[in-house]
Amino acid sequence: MTIAPGTSPTAAAPDRAAPGGARRIPGREELGQMYRDHLNRGRATLGEMFGGHVEVESQGAWVTTAEGRRFLNCGGYGVFLTGARHPTVIRHVVEQLQTHPISTRVFLEPQAALAAEALISVVPAGLSRVHFAGSGAEAAETALKLARTKGRHRLVATVNGYHGKTAGALSLTGNELFRAPFQPLLPGTTHVPFGDAAALEAVLAEAPGEACVFVEPVQGEAGVVIPPAGYLRAVREACDRHGALLVLDEIQTGLGRLGTWWGADAEGVTPDIMLVGKGLSGGVVPVSAVVATREAFSVFDRDPYLHTSTFSGAPLAMAAARGAIAAMKEEELVTRARELGDELLPELRRIAVHHYGDAVREVRGRGLLLGIEFAEPGPAGDLLIELIDNGVIANHSLNSHLVLRLTPPAVLARSDVDFLYEAFDRACRAQAARYSSTAGSSRDHA
Ligand code: PLP
Repeated sequence: MTIAPGTSPTAAAPDRAAPGGARRIPGREELGQMYRDHLNRGRATLGEMFGGHVEVESQGAWVTTAEGRRFLNCGGYGVFLTGARHPTVIRHVVEQLQTHPISTRVFLEPQAALAAEALISVVPAGLSRVHFAGSGAEAAETALKLARTKGRHRLVATVNGYHGKTAGALSLTGNELFRAPFQPLLPGTTHVPFGDAAALEAVLAEAPGEACVFVEPVQGEAGVVIPPAGYLRAVREACDRHGALLVLDEIQTGLGRLGTWWGADAEGVTPDIMLVGKGLSGGVVPVSAVVATREAFSVFDRDPYLHTSTFSGAPLAMAAARGAIAAMKEEELVTRARELGDELLPELRRIAVHHYGDAVREVRGRGLLLGIEFAEPGPAGDLLIELIDNGVIANHSLNSHLVLRLTPPAVLARSDVDFLYEAFDRACRAQAARYSSTAGSSRDHA
């Protein structure tokens, strides 16, 4: 990605010290230095590229900086479907915080069971067991271990697919940039083109009864890549024919992001194992989950100490998960995500094509997972920075330099949608002149 330095002012904001110092907010320059000294030098540089802003508050679709500037959050790498600090999530989490945030893990504890019950109430029929974890990558690790207990040691994932960056998950993630420094990763891993069920079937046929397939319903980090209709069903059938286990990674696509509860729903597919993350946190407490059939999960049922982690199922995170699912049901946010996506996609496409002409290759999406693909590397990064200057946070795509991603929350108000259109129009207008050759002609009929 070619990202030019941001243009926002870099003046230091005054310290806003709260009594007791728990909310001390260092000024910009001091914070940058603290990042350089103790966190990550590269991250400090990226923060400057993105305008040097310091985020300190969030509510609903909006993020506020230390200087009091507000940004419409259409980024967050897909976490914020319920927006920030949704009242239902906060209510669940605060009650739990004030009573019992971390359990002994000796006694039984209600929040874990209630969160599992809530999650099972919305997943595809046939999935009945849950293991909670803290991150998406941990969920992928758990699925890898379950697959091994079933003798599925040959792993098949997709080119440009993303499943996280812990060693096992990274073996599945299909991007050499992230993999190369850590080789050798897990042996016996093959990457097949995404969307090509025949290519997958050919690999599975070589290892009957030995393979485990990891696939996303729509590839998020690859740049919102939507497979042909029927792909997931064909993947399921190929797995069944060759005795392969199917792990569906719904960490980015699930919990309403695509305008359905799960990408699997669109094709009526039930995987053996499904991975859930991001939105399950309600944007409040990190939590992920592995949801499995009783058969795929059986080894964990037999030995509860085989796969453990200190904070797995912590009551505070369980309260967030329950709150997130409750908020989604109460406000029908899955339907809202579909309706909003149906409205946003054509308008964003119209604006992008109007300004960029042929320099934009495709504007695509499903529900509230939206991608703007450019014909060359460069414009996606520049537009990302220009959008920030215009008050909108978006994301690049970890496995594609060509695609800018928008993952707005389903709680956008009418005025937020209008703000997004205006900011997107201004940002495209400001940047397009550098790249577009045919925008003038497309402008006439856009
Ligand atoms: N799987 C998918 C599809 C993802 O999009 C991501 C993160 O973007 C992950 C797994 C990894 O999740 P985490 O970053 O929480 O480890």
